[in-house]
Amino acid sequence: MGGPSPCIFCSIVRGEVPSHRIREGGRCVAFLDVNPISRGHALVVPRAHVADLTQVTVEDWAEATHLARWVALRLRKVLTAQGNNLFVASGSAAEQSVKHLHIHVIPRYAGDGLDINEWWTMKVRPIPSAELGEIASNLREPADPEG
Ligand code: AMP
Repeated sequence: MGGPSPCIFCSIVRGEVPSHRIREGGRCVAFLDVNPISRGHALVVPRAHVADLTQVTVEDWAEATHLARWVALRLRKVLTAQGNNLFVASGSAAEQSVKHLHIHVIPRYAGDGLDINEWWTMKVRPIPSAELGEIASNLREPADPEG
């Protein structure tokens, strides 16, 4: 767990900084976001320090996504959330602020006013089908995403 010092999420994982934990797995920990955008907004982080998606192992990522689903279902059951958004900011250009990979698990409630779809729709830019085809074909191979 050799994260940069100080890494706030490494400190939380080690129990040196208080957090409101929800569940712990062998590889990942889930706790509440201290600045929630909705009631129950949680984070899932790998125990091992990795900055973002480019560094995470498939094993850690697999457990993180399983744990995120577990949290999402508990938010529905316990806080009566009616939906969830999962969100990952990976890299500075993606506006990641804490450089220790994390999945936001955001519970959604009817009329909660987050209006993600409204923001999204404003940002959509039409693109010709040929250009979509070219992008897809460039992305398709090889199987190793870094290859
Ligand atoms: P991001 O912009 O995706 O990197 O989001 C980082 C998130 O970490 C924000 O939603 C913060 O509110 C949250 N956060 C930062 N410090 C803490 C902390 N000590 N405990 C819980 N959540 C935190």
